[in-house]
Amino acid sequence: MILVTGGAGYIGSHTVRRLIKKGYDVVVYDNLTKGHEWAVKDSKLVVGDISDHDRVCNVIKKYGVDSVIHFAAYSLVGESMEDPQMYYINNVGGTMSLLKAMMDCGVKKIVFSSTAAVYGEPEEVPIKEESRLNPTNVYGRTKLIIENILKDYDMAYGLKYVSLRYFNAAGADDAGDIGEDHYPETHLIPLVLKTAKGERKDIKIYGTDYSTPDGTCIRDYIHVNDLADAHILALEYLRENRSNVFNLGNGSGFSVKEVIDTAEKVTSRNIKRIETERRPGDPVVLIADSEKIKKVLGWKPQYTELDKIIETAWRWEMKD
Ligand code: UDP
Repeated sequence: MILVTGGAGYIGSHTVRRLIKKGYDVVVYDNLTKGHEWAVKDSKLVVGDISDHDRVCNVIKKYGVDSVIHFAAYSLVGESMEDPQMYYINNVGGTMSLLKAMMDCGVKKIVFSSTAAVYGEPEEVPIKEESRLNPTNVYGRTKLIIENILKDYDMAYGLKYVSLRYFNAAGADDAGDIGEDHYPETHLIPLVLKTAKGERKDIKIYGTDYSTPDGTCIRDYIHVNDLADAHILALEYLRENRSNVFNLGNGSGFSVKEVIDTAEKVTSRNIKRIETERRPGDPVVLIADSEKIKKVLGWKPQYTELDKIIETAWRWEMKD
């Protein structure tokens, strides 16, 4: 049985769906502060907080959990800079409590949601796993601390982990009934599409004076189902009692302006943009080298084109 913390969230719910499709037994553990009950209607859901040690232990025992996929976390760069304490308590404190519950109850396998934000401003692009780790924002620092905790627990207690450093998750499942739904929404692609839809007046571009060809930040957008599939491969890898760290991206970068241009093409609508100041904590360019996960886990992304990724997000956005 797989325990999926944060399984009612955006990436979590897509992973849960793929796990169930592949025949895994899954129990979702989510406090529903960010996640949605409707996103996990096909699986068992326990509403609880990862910092509730006894509740986690009870769920592990009740369902016979042998591995954990740990998504539950706050994940907004801007918010993390405004309220670091909330991020350290929830992400680092919450994970430490979860790990204690796991080990107290004999569970020693975890797939961990890390982030490209652990690299900060990269020395080399595309970024390899052994590139310098130097996060420029609190969110990235919380994830790097947890990566290090996992390494230490592996050495001391034999906890096996796979840390997946996600680049920018985007898109939605083709079935059209689950997708990205944050409140408040802060991510580029959903905001751009809400502007195309007429729900928002304009999209603000955070900084046009970066050292990139068009002056806006460059990111590597990866489809949420491709991310989800990597977690399932990581679980299989853990079964052989190994630990590792992998990047997860498409390997191509798009600027904020290119994303908006592509969204205009996909939606056939004009999207009003307003150029504003930089957002604190944003690295200029983040592009993944994902060769390691392709080689070691046999991962292969299915959605490699940005317009196809945005198309799935647009279908989800327009569903009602
Ligand atoms: N961004 C933007 N306007 C917005 C939201 C995001 O210009 O309303 C930029 C942001 O500065 C970053 C990129 O879009 O360079 C992706 O941001 P997002 O918040 O989607 O993901 P992040 O890279 O922070 O995880």
